[in-house]
Amino acid sequence: MLFDTHVHLNVDHFNEDREAVIQRAIEAGVTEMVVVGFDHDTIPKAIKLAEQYDFIYAAVGWHPVDAIDFTSEELQWLETLASHPKVVALGEMGLDYHWDKSPKHVQQDVFRKQIQLAKKVDLPIIIHNREATEDIVSILQEEQAETIGGIMHCYNDGPEYVQACLEMNFYISLGGPVTFKNAKLPKEVAKIVPIDRLLIETDCPFLAPHPNRGKRNEPAYVTLVADQIAELREMTRDEVGRATTTNAHHLFRLD
Ligand SMILES: [Zn+2]
Ligand SMILES: [Zn+2]
Repeated sequence: MLFDTHVHLNVDHFNEDREAVIQRAIEAGVTEMVVVGFDHDTIPKAIKLAEQYDFIYAAVGWHPVDAIDFTSEELQWLETLASHPKVVALGEMGLDYHWDKSPKHVQQDVFRKQIQLAKKVDLPIIIHNREATEDIVSILQEEQAETIGGIMHCYNDGPEYVQACLEMNFYISLGGPVTFKNAKLPKEVAKIVPIDRLLIETDCPFLAPHPNRGKRNEPAYVTLVADQIAELREMTRDEVGRATTTNAHHLFRLD
């Protein structure tokens, strides 16, 4: 029982063998996953996959890198999609200060608008954060995101921000980086997050876990993330899988 809470099976990297990738995920023990759409191209594809497969859900949001392209039309579109029965969250949304296609103030504005929409439609949110932790936390606090909660996807900070996230009703999701030999912070975080607030993900096709680092990632590799967390917490893969699946069900209201 493994719930991969963040996959991009909706991108071109999987065009040649999408069905085989999904089959390998099932064989590896992946029982559910959320396909995350983040722009004009990937959002309809996320919905389509969720309609095609019982155990696949969709999240829809606008990526901060492309915030500059977000207008009231996109906002309206997301609001319409939010009522789709297989859409379980809004996102990914957030801030990405690594790339400068969209100025910071534009990213912040688009982030706030999506949080406000999520509150209106009452869905949890999936946060993408790159080099912007302070601003992410402030905006979530200012917008009172604790009423909806959500996921800090591919959490990449040390233990110092965990408490603030937990207080805002957010879950901490760990992916491939927790398995990297030189990744001290994710390993520390894996040990201290309360088990009832931990999630696992691949973020495939990106960030493949060790020993597949650098290759195309896929949902079957979430087993490697679960195994690493199990080792760090002195649990079994099954226990990690059960706990994180229960958490995902609770957050996405799938019970
Ligand atoms: Zn992301
Ligand atoms: Zn993503």
